[in-house]
Amino acid sequence: MADDPAAKPTPMMAQYLALRAEAGEALLFYRMGDFFELFFDDARRAAQILDIALTTRGEHDGAAIPMCGVPVHSAESYLARLIKAGCRVAIAEQVETPDEAKERAKREGLPSSKVLVKRAIVRLVTAGTLTEEALLEPRRANLLVALAEVRGVIGLASCDISTGAMVLEECPPELLGGSLARLGPSEVVVPEDWPHGPEDAILHPRARFSSDAGAERLQALHAVATLDSFGQFSRAMLAAAGGLIAYLDHVGRGSLPLLLPPVARSSDTGLAMDAATRTSLEILESASGGRSGSLIGAIDRCSTGAGARLLAEDLAAPLTDKAAIEARLQLVEFWHARPIERARLREALRALPDLGRALGRVVAGRGSPRDLGQLRDGLAEAQRLHSWLTGAPDRPALLDAILGQLTGHGALTDHFARALVQSPPTERGNGGYIAEGFDPVLDELRAAAGNARRAIAAMEARYRDETGIASLKIRHNGVLGYFIEVPARHADRLMAPDSGFTHRQTMKDAVRFNSLTLHAEASRIAEAGGHALATEEAHFARLVEEAIAAREAIARTAAALARLDVAAGNAERAAEGDWTRPAITHDTALAITAGRHPVVEAALAKAGERFVANDCQLTTDNHLWLIGGPNMGGKSTFLRQNALIVLLAQAGCFVPAEAATIGLVDRLFSRVGASDNLARGRSTFMVEMVETAAILAQATSRSFVILDEVGRGTSTYDGLALAWAVAEAVHTTIACRCLFATHYHELSRLAGSCERLSLHHVRAREWQGDLVLLHELAQGPADRSYGLAVAKLAGLPAPVIARAKAVLEKLEATREHSGGIAAGLGDLPLFAAQARAEPAAPSPADALAAKLRSADLDALAPREALDLLYQWKRELS
Ligand code: ADP
Repeated sequence: MADDPAAKPTPMMAQYLALRAEAGEALLFYRMGDFFELFFDDARRAAQILDIALTTRGEHDGAAIPMCGVPVHSAESYLARLIKAGCRVAIAEQVETPDEAKERAKREGLPSSKVLVKRAIVRLVTAGTLTEEALLEPRRANLLVALAEVRGVIGLASCDISTGAMVLEECPPELLGGSLARLGPSEVVVPEDWPHGPEDAILHPRARFSSDAGAERLQALHAVATLDSFGQFSRAMLAAAGGLIAYLDHVGRGSLPLLLPPVARSSDTGLAMDAATRTSLEILESASGGRSGSLIGAIDRCSTGAGARLLAEDLAAPLTDKAAIEARLQLVEFWHARPIERARLREALRALPDLGRALGRVVAGRGSPRDLGQLRDGLAEAQRLHSWLTGAPDRPALLDAILGQLTGHGALTDHFARALVQSPPTERGNGGYIAEGFDPVLDELRAAAGNARRAIAAMEARYRDETGIASLKIRHNGVLGYFIEVPARHADRLMAPDSGFTHRQTMKDAVRFNSLTLHAEASRIAEAGGHALATEEAHFARLVEEAIAAREAIARTAAALARLDVAAGNAERAAEGDWTRPAITHDTALAITAGRHPVVEAALAKAGERFVANDCQLTTDNHLWLIGGPNMGGKSTFLRQNALIVLLAQAGCFVPAEAATIGLVDRLFSRVGASDNLARGRSTFMVEMVETAAILAQATSRSFVILDEVGRGTSTYDGLALAWAVAEAVHTTIACRCLFATHYHELSRLAGSCERLSLHHVRAREWQGDLVLLHELAQGPADRSYGLAVAKLAGLPAPVIARAKAVLEKLEATREHSGGIAAGLGDLPLFAAQARAEPAAPSPADALAAKLRSADLDALAPREALDLLYQWKRELS
């Protein structure tokens, strides 16, 4: 393929290839007039992802150049799809007008046909650096994370550039996976030669990840001499911050987005959960990848996107600080107890624009008049909420803290309210966003343009009178500006030398003219219009500056509104589901009365079924529950509901239970036996064991562990032995709270040697030969395994079930007094025809199927075939 630079490329091709090289592995959007064009391999890739036509344009090295293009005005939607598909896009804009290019040619003494409009890459669009409303999901944060390592410690700098929030933290390399899982970034940047994950990270020059440069950049950015007032930052954190800022520089071509002062997150705050636990608990995403079916999908009742994003943060990083948890719970309770006020609050919040993201666009230099309007409206609403809520009695402390952030923008909102029209446009090109009465000079310019427009309208009427041509029109287009148009058959009258009209253009049916008066009025419009636009631009720039100067206060207001929304949303969810406020304690008890699983309960409710609530009572003397019972009996559900209740409680939410007392948990672990993960294609027994090993290494006596069928991924005896050993370690060595579901009957013998372990099972009953799953937890070991009954429930054919029964009886009889399973099977005719094991008469449908199978269709005459059909039909009915 001819993608290599040609021996002698055209000037345009030379320019293109230079930009192409600069864009690296990003797709190059090359601006040509109203289109962004893509060429060569870029075109092939984009055409396939976007499903648009691939054409060709010109030749390069003797071969046609593949090309595709997207219109500039709808480029965002195409960008969104490319970014989703994992691409990065470099935007090459025209950075001078064709007129400027001609001027330049003149100065440089070149023929104007030889000059090419200058183009430059003005921005790299990447998944982690978006600010556009259309490209962002309103209810999801969009994080960019940079990683750096300093002396064995990994620094993580994360920022959501759509709102400017920036957090610095650090962790040892082995916990990086868990930290990244908590953050869930859209894009990760690492230095070249990075030895740790993730695999799809973007590489950036190593020299940019320097802690000195990082500190300097942060100080300069926030105009401080030291970062001390923001918190304590380690070298690793600062190196990561340096890399992050350098990458943002690179992506924005020197213009930095909104970055708020960094916040240090110390590694030991919060409830620790590793990646496997997050995935298995389906906190922000269900196993199938979407929000629906996840915890957040089942509980999010936030009225705003910012609220939903904060709720996701809360759930991803629950707290371990009792006071902070209680503060959130108190606020939820406040709104829970006030349904009428809550409804009013949520309605007000629903009308709120996304303040944080509007600010993010404005600071990044991508703001529109509409974004300024959103700041005005959002801040004004915050002030209204402040006035309303300061009057409320019995305000919890957190509400007072929030209220303090909702006010203080009076000057800015007043100014913006006077300056901007009611609903400002997203484009500035046509002006019209600065309100009338704000600037007398602007009003005058607009009046002048308006007067001239009216004068032109009057002129048309006058010309019709004077020429007697009723169909004469004064029209406007982009090429000619204003002109007079008459049908071709009347043109002669205006062609006369003394008519006062000058000919401009002859069309097929019409002829176009100019006149001195029209020209004069048109110039007045153009001039006044141009001045008016420039005046509006100047006002816009000042308003943007004003917003930027207030950015930190505005961001705090946005955050406070989000916190208010989360509390009201949680209260709403609690009221809806009859949830309760958990009691938080410092001991290691876990007492949940009538707990429920929020996601399973919602799914059952949809199908018109009822969820059976269950208790969980773990104490220091009885901190390990071994849970048996049939498959599908509700073991996994029970385990997870208790983990989710702990998580919700420590995130500051009410919980789906009648009562809950949670002794603060420091680490939460959830493990599922390997075969459950088979569908996700990563089911090796190895994974299961690696994940289990992490628990044994990291869990403490304050941790809470759920183990679901651990040991299932290998042969029976191996699995049993491992499950046994793990249970013992959890019981004796770690001594933490643990729910352990297992189908290994034999494990119940552990109760003999582990005194702080108790046996439980999910109840089932056989009724008229069928298994009924009660989903109810009871004391004691499961009486038997019910495997065959579950298989029958699942629709395994009767002969197979009967055969399995026979095998089982034989096994159980021989196991008692001989050498294990193989010996038991020795005298069983294992491969005996199953039809003989089940002598019952076949059903009519089975009989028919057998006949159909044995019928030789080729040997049948059509008439015989029809007769057979009738006969079979009779037999069936
Ligand atoms: P197990 O882990 O014992 O195989 P699961 O926990 O996966 O069983 O539950 C299987 C199904 O039973 C769930 O998908 C759900 O539909 C239903 N179920 C589980 N627990 C309950 C419950 N407490 N109340 C009602 N239905 C339940």
